Amino acid sequence: MKVVCLSGGVGGAKLVRGLHDVLPPGDLTVVGNVGDDVEVLGLHVSPDLDSVLYALAGLNDEERGWGRADETWRVLGAARAWGGEDWFQLGDLDVALHLVRSQALRRGDPLSAITRRLAAAVELATTVLPATDDVLRTRIVTSEGTFGFQEWFVGRRHEDDVDAVVYDGAETAAPAPGVVEALRDADAIVLAPSNPYVSLGPIFAVPGIREAIGRRGVRCIAVSPLIGGRAVKGPLDRMLTRMAGGTTPAHVASFYDGLLDALVIDAADAPAEAGVPLVVSATLMDDRAASRRLATVVLEAAT
Ligand code: GDP
Repeated sequence: MKVVCLSGGVGGAKLVRGLHDVLPPGDLTVVGNVGDDVEVLGLHVSPDLDSVLYALAGLNDEERGWGRADETWRVLGAARAWGGEDWFQLGDLDVALHLVRSQALRRGDPLSAITRRLAAAVELATTVLPATDDVLRTRIVTSEGTFGFQEWFVGRRHEDDVDAVVYDGAETAAPAPGVVEALRDADAIVLAPSNPYVSLGPIFAVPGIREAIGRRGVRCIAVSPLIGGRAVKGPLDRMLTRMAGGTTPAHVASFYDGLLDALVIDAADAPAEAGVPLVVSATLMDDRAASRRLATVVLEAAT
């Protein structure tokens, strides 16, 4: 069963690893967000693609929720001592990936080709594609000004309320090679429990991707990133309250207008009415077994 999963970073990667585990090898394609990408100390960092790669390769830090396990921070400390920027947390092991990617980008390789090579280096059967090879950057509009995503999220600790989210470069971006083809050939499409504004929004903003999902002849299932109306982690509940008017399953579903055949919600959010069929399950993925259980529920809803 060929499945395409649209995913952000931390929350998305948790479902992606479950789908990867329960599907036959090679059946999963992940389309990842690049709106969060940022240049730090001259290195190109793709936090969401990296979260997916680390989770699939079993290299991720379960407790911290991002980055690599057994990480150390000596490079960042040394860079700080030389007067280098230190606002963005880059671990020593993490830096290795950014060095390899940045070198290849400078050589002119597209991000999708580089990501394929990185996935092959850790022998992943799952295909990981950036939504686009073009430069698309999420910007956060607040009453204090408009900020790059990481500047707001990490630098300002996402404290400013968000009035709007814009995707710079989206109009002229093209889907990365393989994205539209994977959506066309899929037996099911899954929208991971990722932040709809800043993780899935930038993917939908690439012309052709939303349309390809709209044209599908197969089921499209989303998993809500809220549990009991609250984000498991991060600013989504505040963003939804301010920009969509609430945090019920209906508010989540409204974001995917016309794209969903079902929305998987947590038992803590049921019963509810959302204008789309709801599947009620336990949606907290606090370990890899929980990810597999939820992936199984999603695939059942997709067939
Ligand atoms: P980011 O790009 O690293 O912020 O990651 P995502 O957008 O993919 O994930 C952030 C969202 O994942 C947040 O809105 C969380 O509420 C949600 N999330 C994190 N862990 C879980 C989980 O175990 N279950 C569910 N349902 N949502 C989760």
